[in-house]
Amino acid sequence: MREAMYYRPHEQGLRCSLCPKKCIIREGATGFCRVRKNIGNTLYTENYGECSSYALDPIEKKPLYHFYPGSTILSLGTWGCNFSCSFCQNWEIAQEDPKTMKLSPDQAVELARQEKKNRNIGLAYTYSEPSVWYEYVLDTAKAIKQAGMKNVLITNGFINREPLEEILPYIDAMNIDIKAFNKEYYQKVCAGELEDVKETVALASSACHVEITTLLVPGLNDKKDEIEQLSTWLGKINADIPLHFSRYFPNYKMDLPPTPESTMIMAQEIARKQLHYVYLGNLGEKGINTYCPQCDKLVIDRKKWHSEMENRNICPQCKNPIYIIGEVSI
Ligand code: SF4
Repeated sequence: MREAMYYRPHEQGLRCSLCPKKCIIREGATGFCRVRKNIGNTLYTENYGECSSYALDPIEKKPLYHFYPGSTILSLGTWGCNFSCSFCQNWEIAQEDPKTMKLSPDQAVELARQEKKNRNIGLAYTYSEPSVWYEYVLDTAKAIKQAGMKNVLITNGFINREPLEEILPYIDAMNIDIKAFNKEYYQKVCAGELEDVKETVALASSACHVEITTLLVPGLNDKKDEIEQLSTWLGKINADIPLHFSRYFPNYKMDLPPTPESTMIMAQEIARKQLHYVYLGNLGEKGINTYCPQCDKLVIDRKKWHSEMENRNICPQCKNPIYIIGEVSI
């Protein structure tokens, strides 16, 4: 447990200013995320150095398709979340109290270093929401940078501007969820706010590599108009930002049937009019390859685990640059 950053006194206790929820936390209580507690009028982060799970994952699993393709990344998670999505895939750690092990920032760096022999490029803060693990992620990210490795956040993007600006210099890549492109969905299904997430995407994409994931839930966020609005908005920020549509399966409190394959394909076709790289997830081997946005040549075949690119990031057919950060080791 450590004293939290980003809070101030309030007439009813303390006000946390880490994320846009801005919880007012009375003595002895925790905020919405369950991990920040007011003890004696000091706010503590209860999950500092508490790791619920770790694994060496392919970078593509995050998903990050345009950041050191073919590498691996040591992935860590804690517990707690500032959203409460009805479909949460990781609800056992986000919304329950999982068993944890102690892992100091130095120990995490050492683990990452040991995995370099397995193509590990650094640490990903993932599984649960890293925004509410802020102090630990900041300390560990600084140490990872000093060790010459990379930091990756897999996040819902629900964090205030000031803490985001403080951590961004240490972050190399992010996958940010845009849960839907409608305000009501964010409020009803996730207990969040779309506008705050949009601000995070805009700021983060000016500072590091960003990819976006949208879980398509049938009947709730899969209308053509909404997908058009999402991809138009993202394309205006940067058409090279990869967008991953992920197929929903029933989980946690949501029991709608899985997203039809036809919906996934429709979303990809619409988004490709605005964006250069649009992928499908949770649909087997469909929609996972990278094509040149200019001539449509297959440049990274993730089914055969093979890259066709010359000079790291040039299309072999039309010589168009392919937006990729880092070495391609596929
Ligand atoms: S980080 Fe947690 S305690 Fe702080 S405002 Fe967000 S939900 Fe509330």
